[in-house]
Amino acid sequence: MRREPTKVYLWTVANRLYREYDGVYVGNYTPHGGGISTGMRRAMNNQSLIGRFKETLKWTAIRSGKVYGEWDEDGSTRTCHVCDYEVPGGMSPEIREWTCPQCGTHHIRDENSSINGLKQVLEKLEVPGSGRLGGRKAVWTRRA
Ligand SMILES: [Zn+2]
Repeated sequence: MRREPTKVYLWTVANRLYREYDGVYVGNYTPHGGGISTGMRRAMNNQSLIGRFKETLKWTAIRSGKVYGEWDEDGSTRTCHVCDYEVPGGMSPEIREWTCPQCGTHHIRDENSSINGLKQVLEKLEVPGSGRLGGRKAVWTRRA
């Protein structure tokens, strides 16, 4: 049987990530709209590429004794990761960069969102993460 290229790619990326990291965390984004229920959207999302990638990550984590998790993306793009300022009313998807009016930090939308995700994950960890495996180890410090 011919192996599906997308499936092979997803496994390759998942294995690569878990070879280097003890935990992989993904945003819990679910597409909105379309006049369908959250359950239906979730089911459709599971068939999507990101849905399939999440499933692949989960299985790879279990098989390798590592951790898979999801973080809540709600508000992560419009919240400044430096000072926690929240842009009122959200931010339209076409805004890719913005400057925080409170602390003046210039943000790249997805980068800021990812840092907020990392903050969320680190706040929930029981023990500090070990960072990247091999070579220099990162030391995470938590803000009081
Ligand atoms: Zn700020």
